[in-house]
Amino acid sequence: MKKKLIAGNWKMNGGLAANQALLQALLQDVATPACDVAVAVPAAYLAQGQALLQGSPISLAAQDVSQHEVGAYTGEVSAAMLGDFGVRYAIVGHSERRQYHGETDSVVATKAHRALAAGITPIVCVGETLAEREAGQTEVVVKRQLAAVIHLNGHCITEIVVAYEPVWAIGTGKTATAEQAQAVHAALRAQLSAASDKADRIRIVYGGSMNAANAAELLAQADIDGGLIGGASLKAPDFLKIIAAAQ
Ligand code: PGA
Repeated sequence: MKKKLIAGNWKMNGGLAANQALLQALLQDVATPACDVAVAVPAAYLAQGQALLQGSPISLAAQDVSQHEVGAYTGEVSAAMLGDFGVRYAIVGHSERRQYHGETDSVVATKAHRALAAGITPIVCVGETLAEREAGQTEVVVKRQLAAVIHLNGHCITEIVVAYEPVWAIGTGKTATAEQAQAVHAALRAQLSAASDKADRIRIVYGGSMNAANAAELLAQADIDGGLIGGASLKAPDFLKIIAAAQ
């Protein structure tokens, strides 16, 4: 059976002192986690993350990666640069990137493939807005978003993690019910199975107000293979409880 993945997405939070305190608190408690654990730190703190996490069971992740390989792209961070800091996973297509930075499905697909080419596993985010859910479009939207990534050049799709993150549940305290989340995860699993005979290996994790109280129920669903956690990943006791719920 594949291990679950619990990944924290710190977003644009933290600072040298706070990061150190948070990572040290996590490291004290997660000597041998039964699940895979990662933290996606802001790009500015990748070197700090690498230094503190080296040799530990917590992997370093990035929150984004450039769609470009190298060159005159001011402010961008390439997949190769992330690789230099031992980054194991890169979030791509987070709804905040799609919404505030205009990232299209095709940009997200290119980013995923840049990450893969550098040996970094992309955590590909998909998710519907409230309006799309209310219009009955949830499956159509998430399948379109995922199809753009897995069909870009037809290979390597087993090397990704998929994160189902309903936009209306992110940072709102409104979690999808376990049944709502499982239904979408099952649809994504079916899509992956139709595209690859290795679909069973692909982890589909849930994100959107996952917390210490609701993690166990969500993680018990058949097709929920972990979590991508924003707010609750900034508090060590809460994040540790979610990790424990994934054992
Ligand atoms: P949240 O964020 O847990 O704060 O809702 C999840 C995410 O955006 O990845």
